[in-house]
Amino acid sequence: MRKSLLASAALSLAFTALAMPAMAEEVTEWRLFVSDHSDPKVTVVDALEGATIETIQIKAPASLYRSKGGEAVFAVQRNGNIVNTISSGIAFEDHGDHGDIKVAPPKITGAEIAGEYPVHFVEHDGQLAVFFDKEGVARVFSERDALKGSVDLRAVEADAPHHWVAVAFGDHDLVSVPHPEDPSKLPVGIGTLDREGNEVGATAACPDLHGEAASGNLLVFACATGLLVVTEGDGGPQIRHVAYPQALPDGKSTTVVGGIGIQYFLGNYGADKVVIIDPTGDGDFRLVDLPMRRVHFAVDPVRPKFAYVFTEDGQLHQLDILTGAISATLSVTEAYSMDGHWSDPRPRVAVAGGSIVVTDPLAGKLHLIGAVDFKKVGEIAVGGQPYNIVAVGGTGMSHGDTAGHKHDH
Ligand code: ZN
Ligand code: ZN
Repeated sequence: MRKSLLASAALSLAFTALAMPAMAEEVTEWRLFVSDHSDPKVTVVDALEGATIETIQIKAPASLYRSKGGEAVFAVQRNGNIVNTISSGIAFEDHGDHGDIKVAPPKITGAEIAGEYPVHFVEHDGQLAVFFDKEGVARVFSERDALKGSVDLRAVEADAPHHWVAVAFGDHDLVSVPHPEDPSKLPVGIGTLDREGNEVGATAACPDLHGEAASGNLLVFACATGLLVVTEGDGGPQIRHVAYPQALPDGKSTTVVGGIGIQYFLGNYGADKVVIIDPTGDGDFRLVDLPMRRVHFAVDPVRPKFAYVFTEDGQLHQLDILTGAISATLSVTEAYSMDGHWSDPRPRVAVAGGSIVVTDPLAGKLHLIGAVDFKKVGEIAVGGQPYNIVAVGGTGMSHGDTAGHKHDH
């Protein structure tokens, strides 16, 4: 799978380290972290070689999150009542005129965040918050601690156990406010807490709250009525509500992802639509009709104007964010109907450098699609039911002195 150029770059790195410590080499490395739908494991795959690097055993089937920098991958195990930290083994360091890459084996670090029924996981400005639904408590920690192997946890308490979220936002915490009569319903708003846990200001109303994402300096929550848009103010977070325009049909977003490189949000909106959102001002909402019901969607962090939507007919669509049109479509897997249970094994999408990767749980493999020409370039057999996926990697310089890294530029 790996292009020969990259293979030789990686190979010569090994020799460089021994023979020519001062020489810099460009190194490209992409790793895929793939959880299984029913087995408690995370398979780490070299996306360029197509080989399995490591199989990491965990307690229960996991959802996966990667830290923004990509040094850590978190395995959130709803039914295992635990979150495990995995060091991705890929780290970047900014050297001003260039970036360095450091590559090491992936490994579980030992930092475990325990609690009842962890589901949603949010990173904001270096603080990571995992919300435990059955406790109504979020535990906040830092990536650095998690990578070192033990975390100092700070608890943020909601009013009652319920399904949702907390975001550590600077010196404050944003916490979902459960439905007052029935906490098993979706939350009704977002409260701002200070570090003593006291609510600051009024609850920002957000009926049927579900969906959170950040893009650039904006954070949004999705509500039945529109979006809450959070920005950093002088005294803490500033929250305003942007309503869905009258022109939109009945519907709401319940999952949103944030653009990287271009500030926008992409949300679901009904079963067979997505909406491209610019939440500045009164907000701009562009609805995109899909040919079939949506299974999963992801933004492209490398080519900012594209996002990808996978539909139940087994097709992957390239969505041009600027025009709001589907600019390419490729048949990738057999059909995966959205009828049935919401958590049935169905494909998930991640972007790894030049490839879009689609998990195919019923076929036990990953499909790789070239991001530029949008054609299938390969597949990787993983076995089992490969389900959730995150990609970590990129290209950096390696000076061959990865241990101390003291060098002149
Ligand atoms: Zn350097
Ligand atoms: Zn949820």
